[in-house]
Amino acid sequence: MAGSYVREARLRGLGRRRERIAPIIDRLANEHADAAIALRFRSDLELLVSVMLSAQTTDVNVNRVTPALFEKYPSPQDYLAVPAEELERDIYPTGFFRQKTKAIRGTMRALGVARKTANVVASELGHAQGIVVDTHVRRLSQRLGLSRNEDPVKIERDLQRVVPRADWARFPHLLIWHGRRVCDARRPRCEHCVLEDLCPSSRLR
Ligand code: SF4
Repeated sequence: MAGSYVREARLRGLGRRRERIAPIIDRLANEHADAAIALRFRSDLELLVSVMLSAQTTDVNVNRVTPALFEKYPSPQDYLAVPAEELERDIYPTGFFRQKTKAIRGTMRALGVARKTANVVASELGHAQGIVVDTHVRRLSQRLGLSRNEDPVKIERDLQRVVPRADWARFPHLLIWHGRRVCDARRPRCEHCVLEDLCPSSRLR
């Protein structure tokens, strides 16, 4: 029983848990300097996928599949952009490939939503971690020639490169309001637009 070892330690005069923990960690760290997760990954996303793949198989097996996998699927959206069967084939050697495919795609979908939500919350609290890309931000970024991409994550990355960090929170609001009031999806009112001379999509020229 675990509880009795705690008592035993006291009876043997080994010292209290709080006193023993530092040498326990130190000595183990010395003894097993190589103790680390065996999965190979270069980002949070890669770690997440590796851990999901490692269910019911060895880390070595996972590492065999992941270099090509991570090359092919660099972002969460990439896992959703292919048919499920294709991802199943790509992770087949790790076993339970159907369940794992379902789990990975579900997580990637949730990540997309979570990321957007986290950005909105962080921005409102004054700690913008990213730039919120909704339908207006996407359209305006494209029309203003700030991004060529369709994918919101890529658009965000393009915007992060050019918008000063201090403006990350307010920039999407500005685009959203401009989108609603002036740069309508179907009928942009370029003749009333304060950005007209800066905009490559102006219909006046
Ligand atoms: S000039 Fe026209 S297309 Fe460009 S941002 Fe203004 S309204 Fe939109």
